[in-house]
Amino acid sequence: MPFLGFGKRKQGGGEARVKDLVCDMDVDPKTAAASYEHQGKMYHFCAPGCKAAFAKDPEKYISGQRMQM
Ligand SMILES: [Zn+2]
Repeated sequence: MPFLGFGKRKQGGGEARVKDLVCDMDVDPKTAAASYEHQGKMYHFCAPGCKAAFAKDPEKYISGQRMQM
């Protein structure tokens, strides 16, 4: 009996995921709600609000310092 549908069932394995530096979520660049270019590098975010926060002070998030809210 053949194993139908059993074998390669990778789902999104190996997809390039990036971190939303604002809220620390994993974001898929293809489906990211917002993206922002800073110094020639693209950053992706889960929501426009995260992008707005990043755009205000990119260096803070890139350097890993997070503001307590
Ligand atoms: Zn976010």
